[in-house]
Amino acid sequence: MPARILDGKALARSLHLELKAQAQVLRAGGVVPTLAVVDASGDPAALQYLERKRDRAQALGIDVRVFAFNPAMQQEGLLQLIIQLNTDPSVHGIILEQPVAPQFKAHSLLAAISPNKDVDGTSPASQGLLALGTPRFVSATALAAITLLEHHRIPVAGREAVVIGRSTVVGRPAAFLLLQRDATVTICHSKTRDLAEHTRHADILIAAAGRAGLVRGAMIKPGSTVVDVGTNFVSGRTVGDVAFAEAAEVAGAISPVPGGVGPVTTALLLQNVLRAAADDARTTSVRQ
Ligand code: NAD
Repeated sequence: MPARILDGKALARSLHLELKAQAQVLRAGGVVPTLAVVDASGDPAALQYLERKRDRAQALGIDVRVFAFNPAMQQEGLLQLIIQLNTDPSVHGIILEQPVAPQFKAHSLLAAISPNKDVDGTSPASQGLLALGTPRFVSATALAAITLLEHHRIPVAGREAVVIGRSTVVGRPAAFLLLQRDATVTICHSKTRDLAEHTRHADILIAAAGRAGLVRGAMIKPGSTVVDVGTNFVSGRTVGDVAFAEAAEVAGAISPVPGGVGPVTTALLLQNVLRAAADDARTTSVRQ
């Protein structure tokens, strides 16, 4: 029987309604929720994605200030920009577009982002809190994968979960979120010897390798849940890491690409911006 589809577009639409209402409340109280995006990647694809994010945010009542890539920019200048954004009271969230161009050291730039404004959970402080099981802001992509499971009432506690990918942006935070929800978690990566041996035991499989068609139908446990985070461009089409048609014949539930994790990611990132703005408004009113 073909798998149930974990539809991210429908979930994102319902999240957008909630976010729009939250933004209106903040604006009525004189707070304009604002996200600052620092593009240190120099990647034209990142810019395109960023423009889509900005359009979505603005439609919901969230301002986005983009600090465009400048090839003359040095590490110190970027660091100063982040420090200035940390102390700017009109900015509630800061994202550094990754991967950064080779002239920059990502670690020290991410470490400079204030944990109160780190809405994509990429700073070492945010990652440490997540690893300790007390997250504050978490990578919106990892959170989107888990939110898809929760929204579709897929049980996680006690289940065997396999995450393919160990990046600090997707794989690791997804694994920690699953662990926090009491799954038994295995992280696979490029040096894993027999990937299929692990994936075949997974009740929940999260694919985040960035390799089109890496996960074949025969690698999937019948009836399991597959969340495909991969976003790969092949012959002008966007595809995931999972060979969708054959996987959908074996899995019990599967997220499509496009239309699965992607739309939920943007919604959850914007939700984090609103949370940061609301937290800031609360602290400011307590101080006054
Ligand atoms: P990355 O390149 O930083 O990490 C990829 C990970 O996959 C690495 O840990 C690597 O060890 C592992 N890997 C690579 N080849 C493998 C293989 N053959 N077998 C097992 N593991 C393998 O990528 P990332 O930033 O973590 O992104 C992963 C994917 O998620 C990409 O396709 C990216 O485009 C996508 N992504 C999607 C969203 C979204 O909103 N949908 C957001 C961010 C990233």
